[in-house]
Amino acid sequence: MLDYSQLITLEYTTTRRARHRRVVHQRRSTSPGSAASLLAASLLAASLLALGNPHEWSIIVTGSEELIRQARTKTEGGLPGFPRRRGAVIACIDSRIQPELILGGTPGDYHVIRNAGGLVTDDAVRSLMVSQFHGTNQVIVMMHTDCGAMAYPATREKQRLEAETGERITFAIHDFTDLETELRRGVDLLRSTRLLSHRDRIKGTIYDVDTLRLRTLFE
Ligand SMILES: [Zn+2]
Repeated sequence: MLDYSQLITLEYTTTRRARHRRVVHQRRSTSPGSAASLLAASLLAASLLALGNPHEWSIIVTGSEELIRQARTKTEGGLPGFPRRRGAVIACIDSRIQPELILGGTPGDYHVIRNAGGLVTDDAVRSLMVSQFHGTNQVIVMMHTDCGAMAYPATREKQRLEAETGERITFAIHDFTDLETELRRGVDLLRSTRLLSHRDRIKGTIYDVDTLRLRTLFE
């Protein structure tokens, strides 16, 4: 493992025309250490970003030992194998989406199931089956605004890729054009499947990447 303690640069910049948020990790040391510090530092950076109005301020922190020290305390002793809040979250792969932070928690609070879009797919249901087998009893579906999966012309790309490569795509593409419609579909599907033993605490939410707020639409 790499030691990120000497190598983290956190950078956050904002312009009036286009918001640009970046958390940049630069490796400056190769001594052994815990990759958990990288995760914790990322979470800390996101917490910093959540403190103020993203239109009005910017942060650039480079090589802050204090920052690293604080980040390490968040993962001291390792993380639990079973989520503290006994819940599972289905979320998008988008790097702006950090479900545990958004829900006011810390790493280890939830089982997090991710895919492009944060969609309720067959494989998401499979992961939820495993999660509930091990004792979780609530599900949060977390979609988000400005989702790249929604803008992605999946069906057209599927046809193009199949034509160009000769490969046949056998898995579901899940094209969707409306967040709320897709969220409702996913929540309804979870509530209706008997494959899940806990279906009474399923929540459908949308995270707004501009306001940094989570809105619950179905619960
Ligand atoms: Zn997304």
